[in-house]
Amino acid sequence: MPLNSQSTIRDPVARRNASPRDESEDARRVQLIEVTIDSLAEVGYLGTTLAEIARRADVSPGLVAHYFGDKDGLLEAAFRTLARVVAVRMRERFALARSPRARVQAVIDANLGPENFDRRTGNAWLAFWGQVLHVEGLKRVQRAYQRRMLSNLRSDLRRMIPGEASRSLAAMIAAMIDGVWLRAALSEWQEADSESARALLTAFVEGRLLELTRSPAAEAGQASADRLPRHAPGAETSIRVINPASGEELAVLAVDGPAQVDVAVVKARAAQKQWAAETSAARGRILQRAAQLLRGRNDELAELETRNTGKPIQETRSVDVISGAECLEYFGGLAAGLAGEHLDLGPKAFGYTRREPLGVVAGIGAWNYPLQIACWKSAPALACGNAMIFKPAELTPLTALKLAEIYREAGLPEGVFQVVQGFAATGQLLTRHPGIRKISLTGEVGTGKAVMADAAATLKQVTLELGGKSPLIVFEDAHLDNAVAGALLGNFYSAGEVCSNGTRVFVHKRIRAEFVERLRVRTAAMRVGDPLDPATQVGALISGEHMQKVLGLIALGRAQGARLVIGGSRLTAGALARGCFVAPTVFDACHDDMDIVRQEIFGPVMSVLEFDDEEEVIARANATEFGLAAGVFTNDLTRAHRVIARLEAGTCWINHYNITPVELPFGGVKMSGLGRENGRAALEHYTQLKSVYVAMADIDSPY
Ligand code: NDP
Repeated sequence: MPLNSQSTIRDPVARRNASPRDESEDARRVQLIEVTIDSLAEVGYLGTTLAEIARRADVSPGLVAHYFGDKDGLLEAAFRTLARVVAVRMRERFALARSPRARVQAVIDANLGPENFDRRTGNAWLAFWGQVLHVEGLKRVQRAYQRRMLSNLRSDLRRMIPGEASRSLAAMIAAMIDGVWLRAALSEWQEADSESARALLTAFVEGRLLELTRSPAAEAGQASADRLPRHAPGAETSIRVINPASGEELAVLAVDGPAQVDVAVVKARAAQKQWAAETSAARGRILQRAAQLLRGRNDELAELETRNTGKPIQETRSVDVISGAECLEYFGGLAAGLAGEHLDLGPKAFGYTRREPLGVVAGIGAWNYPLQIACWKSAPALACGNAMIFKPAELTPLTALKLAEIYREAGLPEGVFQVVQGFAATGQLLTRHPGIRKISLTGEVGTGKAVMADAAATLKQVTLELGGKSPLIVFEDAHLDNAVAGALLGNFYSAGEVCSNGTRVFVHKRIRAEFVERLRVRTAAMRVGDPLDPATQVGALISGEHMQKVLGLIALGRAQGARLVIGGSRLTAGALARGCFVAPTVFDACHDDMDIVRQEIFGPVMSVLEFDDEEEVIARANATEFGLAAGVFTNDLTRAHRVIARLEAGTCWINHYNITPVELPFGGVKMSGLGRENGRAALEHYTQLKSVYVAMADIDSPY
C-alpha cells in the first residue's frame, strides 16, 4: 500500500553507495514522485499530466519527460516506488518478528499501518488501481506486489497450518487487505481507520487459525493434557522470552493449545466449587498470606519483572510487586464483608439477595504491568469465590507463574488459580470457551473489541481495561512545579508504557513558555540506562517492534510540524545499542489533529498543547474516542471540581497524576473500556446477584 504525506520515501528507496551526482538525481526523481502522488490524490489520474507535475514541481515539462519518458513512465515509477516502500517496511517488521504468526501480522501491519492508511496515499493508490488493467507497466508492478504479499503469507502460514489451508488463507488475507483498503478509500475514509482495519484483519486471521488448528479430540470434550497434542501441526509451539534491554533470552515456554485450556477449565470448575464453599473469611486469609509472601519476595520478583519488561528496578521494587500485594491485602480484607441485602416486603414476606461467584473466570493481561495486572484481576476474583485462569501477555509471561507459585504456597487449593501461556490464539480459546463465565482483559481497544465479540457467543461478562489518550490540563494559577512533576510522571514513568498517561498536556497560554522550559530542564536531567541500575529512571521499551512504532510516531510528529523540545530519538550509546531505548521526548506547539495527539503511543512521548479558555479546553480534552483518565492542575477549588465533572474520563486526578490507590475504582469510559478494577466496585464485576423471596404466610391462591 502507498505511503502518506508524513512518511518519506527518501530513506527506504535511497541507493546505497550512491555518488553525490546520483544522490542529486535521486533526490529530483523522489521529489517528482512525491509531487505525482500529491497530484493523483488531489486531481486523480486524468488530471495528472506531465504539465501538471511540472507546474507543481516548478520545473519544465521537458525535465519530467527526461526522467520518466511519458506519463505512463512517471506513474509506473511512482507506483513502483510505493510498492517498494511497503516492501521495505515489511522487511523492517519481519526483522523484529519472532514467530510465523508475528510475520503474518507484519504483513498486515505493513500494509495497513497508520503511516500508510490515509486519504492522500489511498487516493493515489486508487488512481493506480483504476489504470492497472490498461497500462502494462502498472500491471507488472501490481502483479509483483501481489505475488510478494501472497508468497510471504503462504510461507509463514504453512508453518502453522496444512498446505492447502495455508494457500487459501493467504489468498483471503490478501483479498481482505485490498478490500478493507478499497472500502476505506471509497467511503472517503469515513468507514475505517488504520487501527480498526488492522483489528478487523487480526480478528479474522485469529479466528481462522483457531478453527484450523483446533484439536478434534479436545472438541469432543476428551480433555487430558497428557493424551492430547499440544498443538495442531505447524502451529506456534513456543514463546521465546526476551529481555528488551539487552536482547538476552530469558526463557522458552510451551504454548498452551485447546487441549491444555480444556483441561484447565475442567480443573478450575471442580476447584471452584470447593473454593466457593469456604467461608469468605478463610478465602481472605489465604489472600493475605499470599500478600505477605509477595512482599517477602519483593526484590527477587522486581528483578525478574525488570529483566522481562525493561522497566527500571527503582520502579519495580517500589511499585509493581507492592501494588500487587496491596491489592491482595485489600480484597483479602473485603472478602469477609461480602454480603447481599435484606428487603422488607411487608408482614407476609421478605426478600434477600445473595452475592454469588460467577464460577470459572479468565484474566488476560497486557505486558506493561504483568504482575500487577495478574494481581488486580485475580485478587477480587478469588475473594469472591471464583476460580481464575490467567493468560499473561506473550511478551511478559514470567511473573504470573511466580504468582501461581505464591498462591499455592499460601494455601490456595490446586486449580483455583492457573496460568496458561500463549499468543492471542490462546487468549481466544479462553474468550470463546463455554465453561468460562467472564473475561477480564487489559489490552488495546482493538483487542477489547475482538474479545467482546468472541465473548458474545457464550454471553460472557466482560471487564475491559483498554487504551487511552488522556488529557492533563494545567491552568494558569496551577502550582507550576507540581504541574511539571505531574506531566513528567504522567508521561515518562515506565518509559511511557502506562495506559492512563496524560499524553495530551494542555497548558494555559500565559504559562506555556515557562512550563515548557521547566519541562525541558527536568527531562534533560532524567537518567536513561540499564534498567537493573538503581539510578536509572527510564528503561527500555518492551520490544523492537514496539520501539519502531514509537519512533515512527515521533517522526510523524516532526513531519506534521510539532516543535521538538527534547529527545526524539533512539538511544544507542554503549550497551544501550543492544536494547530498545528511546529518549524521553517532549513536543511543543502541537495541534489537536496531529497523529501524536490522537493516537495512543505507549512510549515516552509528551505533546504540549496551548489553550486560552476553560470551555475551549474541556471541549478539546473530550474530543477523543478514548476516556480512560484525565488530570487538572489548578489552585481554584471550584474550577477543579467543575472541570473534572465535565471531563469524559473514568479515572481523574486533581493536582496529581497517575497514582492508583487500590481503594479507588480504576477504569475507562467510551472506547477505553467497560467495568472497573479495584475498589469495592470490582466485587460487583466478579459476582452475580441471586434474589430470594421468602413467604411468611399461607399462599392466597385463586385455584
Ligand atoms: P494487546 O491488546 O495486544 O494484548 C493484551 C492481551 O490480550 C495479551 O495477553 C494478548 O496476547 C491478548 N490478546 C490479543 N488478541 C487477543 C484476542 N483476539 N483474544 C484474546 N486475547 C487476545 O495489548 P498489549 O499487551 O499490547 O498492551 C498494551 C495495551 O494495553 C495498550 O493499549 C494499553 O493502553 C492497554 N492497557 C490498558 C490498561 C488499563 O487498565 N486500561 C492498563 C495497561 C495497558 P499476546 O500478548 O500473546 O498478543
